[in-house]
Amino acid sequence: MSVSTKYWSAGIELLKAYMPGEQPQTSGWIKLNTNENPYPPSVRVLEAIAGGLDEGLRLYPDPNGNLLRASIARRFDLSPEHVFLGNGSDEVLGHVFPALLKHDLPVLFPDITYSFYPVYCGLFGIRHQQVPLDADFQIRISDYQRPNGGIVLANPNAPTGVALPLTQIRELLTLNTDSVVVIDEAYVDFGGQSAASLIQEFPQLLVVQTLSKSRSLAGLRAAFALGQPHLIAALERVKNSFNSYPLDRLALLGAQAAMEDDDHLKATCEAVIHTREGLVRELSALGFDTLPSQANFILTRHPLKDAAELLRQLRERKILVRHFALPRIEQHLRISVGTPAECQTLIEALKDILNAFSSEGTPP
Ligand SMILES: *Cc1c(COP(=O)(O)O)cnc(C)c1O
Repeated sequence: MSVSTKYWSAGIELLKAYMPGEQPQTSGWIKLNTNENPYPPSVRVLEAIAGGLDEGLRLYPDPNGNLLRASIARRFDLSPEHVFLGNGSDEVLGHVFPALLKHDLPVLFPDITYSFYPVYCGLFGIRHQQVPLDADFQIRISDYQRPNGGIVLANPNAPTGVALPLTQIRELLTLNTDSVVVIDEAYVDFGGQSAASLIQEFPQLLVVQTLSKSRSLAGLRAAFALGQPHLIAALERVKNSFNSYPLDRLALLGAQAAMEDDDHLKATCEAVIHTREGLVRELSALGFDTLPSQANFILTRHPLKDAAELLRQLRERKILVRHFALPRIEQHLRISVGTPAECQTLIEALKDILNAFSSEGTPP
């Protein structure tokens, strides 16, 4: 489909946009393609949102989300001046790139990481360099010791699921003091170590977290950044030059309730981690190689079966997983950890597919 670009601003036709995973509009799918939490959010979230369904919607929300900021600050032993709110971490990151990472020197991030990072660079005209993960798909801190305009690391990384220990982040911050280091902790609650505890010590550290994954609120659009007030001030400036009210009244109420329900967070994360470990074992029994994951998804490959073909055959069975046609991972599938029942259905489907394949006897 080609569209006329006649009325477009200059450069828009050159933008490469991010491609979100499929959200099917019919029922009956097992959705393991966008790393949503398979468990519902806390009932306290639903009650808080219901409590906001009144004529108060006539009024704008608090542009600074002060109650939510205070509740996030309390959780991390920081003050509200250390907290920046956004409409999902995609928006938070969308402000971070122009506010903190646009310099003469290039921003560094891994060659295999969240594919939105290069998209922001394209939109905001930010130079960047991709730093290869090592042969085990690990981030090597020593590879980031070069002049840079900032460093962005997802930890745990996506789509690998591989986590860096906090000692390594500390080492990076000790060696890299002249530019901002952004740690995107979208998946940290599933077994990673947060760098939030280092914020008072390192003025160049910005930690980004979201309520989409571990708090089961991808549909609400709420996320935050943590950093020293001088970093938050730059983000506020960009935000207030774009949209003063990124979180609506209902999202503010729901997000605050979510941040205050630690028991629910702990229970759902433990369930996901437990299911993940079982899924990895079952996949291994089928011959898959899976990277060690501290996230709510795994990156896995079968040495004999083409990944795009596997995805296609799973899709025929109404199971959605994600495939990235990118160098080094084009034979991998990223599979979100579902409920135990969903993962069992996935395993049975893979058994069928692999059996049919071996009886055909045709290698890919
Ligand atoms: C899912 C994800 C995000 C975006 O999450 P939001 O829903 O926009 O908060 C950001 N970074 C990474 C690495 C992710 O996987």
